[in-house]
Amino acid sequence: MVIESSTRVVAVTTAERCDRCGARAFVRTTFAAGEDLHELLWCGHHFAAYESKIREQAVLVQDERDAIDATVPPLD
Ligand SMILES: [Zn+2]
Repeated sequence: MVIESSTRVVAVTTAERCDRCGARAFVRTTFAAGEDLHELLWCGHHFAAYESKIREQAVLVQDERDAIDATVPPLD
C-alpha cells in the first residue's frame, strides 16, 4: 500500500542526493523492511526510471519534483 503524502513532514532539501547517482534528490521514498523503515532518495531521472517498482513497494512516496522547474534549468 502506498500512502501519498499531502502534508510534507520534512521537505527534501538541496543537500539531499540521489542514492543512485548523487544528483540532487527530489523524491524521498520510505520502504518497510520488517519492523524497520528505511529511506531512499531519488533524482527526477532515477525516480522516473524506477517509478512503477517504487510505487509498488514503498510505503511512502514524497514527490517534490514540482521544485525541479523552479530551481534547476533543464540540461538540454
Ligand atoms: Zn539519480
